[in-house]
Amino acid sequence: AVIDGACLGGGLEFALACTHRVASDNPKTQLGLPEVSLGIIPGFGGTQRLPKLIGLQNALPIILTGKPVNGKKALKISLIDGLISHAFSDQDSLKFVHSLLKTPSKCLKPQKKSVGQFFKEDTFLGRSLVFAAAKNMILSKTKGHFPAPLEALKVVKRTYTKPLEKGLKIEARYFGKRVPTSLSKNLIGLFYIQESLKKYTGVSKDISPKTITNAGVVGAGFMGGGIAWLFANAHIPTRLKDINWEALSHGLETIHSYLKKDLKRKKIMPYELKNKLSSVSTTVDYTGFQHTDIVVEAIVENMDLKKSVFKELESHVSKDTVLASNTSSLSITEMASGLTHPERFIGMHFFSPVNRMPLVEVIPGKKTNEETIASTVAWAKSLKKTPIVVQNCPGFLVNRILNPYINEAVLLVQEGVSMVKIDSIAVQFGMPLGPLTLADEVGLDIGFEVAKILESAYGERMKTAAIFENITEIVNCLGKKTKKGFYIHTTKDPSPNPEILQLAASKIGSQGKQKPAPSEDFILDRLILTLLNEASRCLEEHVVESPAYLDMAMIMGTGFPVFRGGICRYADDRGITNIVDKLNEMTQLYGKRFTPSQKLASMKTDHSKFY
Ligand code: NAD
Repeated sequence: AVIDGACLGGGLEFALACTHRVASDNPKTQLGLPEVSLGIIPGFGGTQRLPKLIGLQNALPIILTGKPVNGKKALKISLIDGLISHAFSDQDSLKFVHSLLKTPSKCLKPQKKSVGQFFKEDTFLGRSLVFAAAKNMILSKTKGHFPAPLEALKVVKRTYTKPLEKGLKIEARYFGKRVPTSLSKNLIGLFYIQESLKKYTGVSKDISPKTITNAGVVGAGFMGGGIAWLFANAHIPTRLKDINWEALSHGLETIHSYLKKDLKRKKIMPYELKNKLSSVSTTVDYTGFQHTDIVVEAIVENMDLKKSVFKELESHVSKDTVLASNTSSLSITEMASGLTHPERFIGMHFFSPVNRMPLVEVIPGKKTNEETIASTVAWAKSLKKTPIVVQNCPGFLVNRILNPYINEAVLLVQEGVSMVKIDSIAVQFGMPLGPLTLADEVGLDIGFEVAKILESAYGERMKTAAIFENITEIVNCLGKKTKKGFYIHTTKDPSPNPEILQLAASKIGSQGKQKPAPSEDFILDRLILTLLNEASRCLEEHVVESPAYLDMAMIMGTGFPVFRGGICRYADDRGITNIVDKLNEMTQLYGKRFTPSQKLASMKTDHSKFY
């Protein structure tokens, strides 16, 4: 088999069934078995031929994590017999075959095991240790939510010393068990959504996006630094502007720190770090901005200030430069209202931290033209992000859905429910962080500001919890950045902040008759169904095109558990009738904020589903 490009899943299993393999040094060459990431296990002999070819210790990480290896690594672990040049793959592969036929001993790497390898792979005790360590690794990484890697491990464990024929039968049996599960359907569903997003243009017409050769970023804070890093990472010369040199040096530090992380993870070479860093130049005025194709603004969240910066900016850029705001809550239409060319203005909402979060909400204002939308979507993709176009409503899509969920958690604290309990229930459901820990991460000042904007936009159902109103009065209680929020963050294991517990106790007193403590299932429903109810309203109002894109946005913007396939998929799996009935029950108990959306109510009547 000659491998030049992606060789994943069935492709690698086919190559494994060949006598010999060579692969190219093409950066696109990847060899891997990603089946577990789709909730299944390799089913065409991958769990059998790979360990037999490269040994247990090399094969297990490939089978159990689904992560691919490149040509160089494949040669190192003897997955391939030769590494050929991509540019001369035709000649090189023929040369390899000729020398293989002539002098096989010369072109095949001798397979020798060290004593350690022999012990770990060829003795019962050694193998038991390897399997136990692999199981622990899986459980700590997946928290028990992904059974596929454990099943794949079971297959390897049961078959490693068995003949191929027998092993293949056992693999097929386990594969058959995994395929019809809802988990694999959810993960495969997400895979198809991801594939469709690769072709996504954000517009219905066939519009060619403009090219991007120079970029500008205004505001060198936490987000601005991250956005400048993104451009630099894509080798796009970038001007970074702030009001003073000190702020600019913070921006450069952010860029440098992200590049250093990539260097440490061997994603870039030292010379690339230097190249990328030097593609960002700093300024306290707008020199150089006349050459930019796009400018992203990331200054403080203040409408008047942002409007005046854009007004100023308009006189320093060409009339075709796309002007984008990274605002997390302010109206794009209003921000563009003072501009001479509002048709090239758009919202481009990155999530924090920029180097890790894949989602970008692209928000057209009323006057934004289609070329601007198509170009912004294309550029976000070239920055290796996943853009999704959403409507210009308060909170846009993700923050609008997330806010009532966090607020509900604060209301639970106010009723005396333990913070640790609330967070751990959300984590058990699969959320990466509990809602209160998340609020601390975001910053309570920012969270409160957004919560108030959403309260004034959506009214009663987003009424900010009373203790949230008072938290900002506690000295220095801004979340993780001040080491004090819902939790005290001075140690590795944050503990609940006694000042907040005191505040909650005072609210319990003032609420009159105390409500009975909700059960764990009820706590989970209060959190998740609040989130779902708002998500369904977003679909009702066409804030986002489809349940599929909403699900993807929640997964990529908040870390909503992938194994649930997204919030809409979760609702379908659980049953819309059950959800509407539960929301009605909670409306009786806790008030109108739980009233099912019109969409959910009519879905119950029509017996319809999101998918
Ligand atoms: P930040 O306070 O870290 O940075 C703001 C920067 O803007 C500062 O360096 C400040 O000096 C600079 N600035 C202020 N006025 C300026 C002007 N007139 N010209 C040039 N620079 C100016 O803020 P941040 O957290 O990076 O947020 C920036 C924007 O991104 C806000 O609109 C915010 O809502 C949005 N956002 C923030 C997050 C987040 O988690 N922090 C996430 C998504 C979006």
